[in-house]
Amino acid sequence: MTRILHRDPKQTLPTAVAGSGPYIIDAEGKRYLDASGGAAVSCLGHSYKPVVEAIKAQLDRLPYAHTGFFTNEPSEALAEHLIDRAPEGLEKVYFLSGGSEANETALKLARQYFHEKGETQRRWFISRRQSYHGNTLGALSIGGNPGRRAVYEPILMPAHHIAPCYAYRERQDTESEEAYGLRVANELEAMLQQLGPDTVIGFVAETVVGATLGAVPAVPGYFKRVREICDQYGILLILDEVMSGMGRTGTLFACDQESIAPDLLTCAKGLGAGYQPIGACLISGKIHDTIVGGSGAFQHGFTYIGHATACAGALAVQQTIERESLLDQVGKRGGELTAALIERFGKHPNIGDIRGRGLFLGLELVEDRASKQPFDPALKLHAHIKHNAMQEGLMCYPGGGTVDGRAGDHVLLAPPYIIEEEQVAEIVDKLGRAIERSL
Ligand code: PLP
Repeated sequence: MTRILHRDPKQTLPTAVAGSGPYIIDAEGKRYLDASGGAAVSCLGHSYKPVVEAIKAQLDRLPYAHTGFFTNEPSEALAEHLIDRAPEGLEKVYFLSGGSEANETALKLARQYFHEKGETQRRWFISRRQSYHGNTLGALSIGGNPGRRAVYEPILMPAHHIAPCYAYRERQDTESEEAYGLRVANELEAMLQQLGPDTVIGFVAETVVGATLGAVPAVPGYFKRVREICDQYGILLILDEVMSGMGRTGTLFACDQESIAPDLLTCAKGLGAGYQPIGACLISGKIHDTIVGGSGAFQHGFTYIGHATACAGALAVQQTIERESLLDQVGKRGGELTAALIERFGKHPNIGDIRGRGLFLGLELVEDRASKQPFDPALKLHAHIKHNAMQEGLMCYPGGGTVDGRAGDHVLLAPPYIIEEEQVAEIVDKLGRAIERSL
């Protein structure tokens, strides 16, 4: 009998015992092709030696030193690496142990920034429906996934949600993509006016929506208009790239493709690729300088911030991505995977949409393609697909966005950047069988 409270305590999980490139091997010797990087984490696969060696070397030198007493070399080097490549204006980094902590940190930095400026009346965050920003109470409060929020609703921070940019379902037939993008971005302005702009701290959004909708990028122009509104009303733009960042979409930061820079940017998953738990919050010079030049310090901190071994692992991951030109691989394999998915599912009566960027791709399942009618959520189609994929020896990341009837079940694919052409075919083949068995 297990002593662990598992995510799904009624399910018996296989035991993972080894990793080999993009495969995980269980105690029975069965191999699973990791087409989702777990939850968009394992961007280098599961046995990348230079990362393992870098972690071992750091453990031999210095595993950990509390940041209340010391800085350390790997965290300084990793910060330098990220800031050298970051969107304009982001000048400092705060290292955490994961994505939820990174988002908590961003919310608190944003609040303290205005506090330092004497704008203490600013208290609201605006975020989007059908989003996910983490499971700690602050991150859950801004998140817009009704299923994850329901139990905790009475103890969440008040937050104000607007529509996501979700063209497949929300763009009207008569509307161009650009017109739709403007309309939906302008919901931010309407919400600001409703709340009173000088009571708002910032707007939070995933650059590409991950787990809740399944790899949904914004339409062209959406984020430019969002940035314009944030500037016009003097609020901060916080981009959550916990899932979509660190090369997943083909550029190191997903917002590089939107030609905008946020005031705060969070990343995690692909930062350490699962070799070590790590997240980061990138901070604009203006926020940093206001806090440090004001009260002098950020009122925050965790025991494991700037963890030396975690940072050494993440630095090795990021150096690998660059040394081996893996962003080009993401573009190349992403193109191949998209083409193979279109070939296999493009005319499938139950696949309504194939979307995403780079190696961050999603399929949306519908009962009826013409009307886009989702399957009944009670069928838990996404859970069946996950189960059947595991039977086939494939890890994918299905979800049910149907909680409020506004989205179908989806399958998220986020394979490692190191996958080979034949593994692209293996993903589509196994996924096809898993979907057919689940319908
Ligand atoms: N933000 C996004 C967009 C995520 O996808 C996730 C996790 O799935 C998180 C935040 C939370 O990250 P973590 O689970 O590392 O706390």
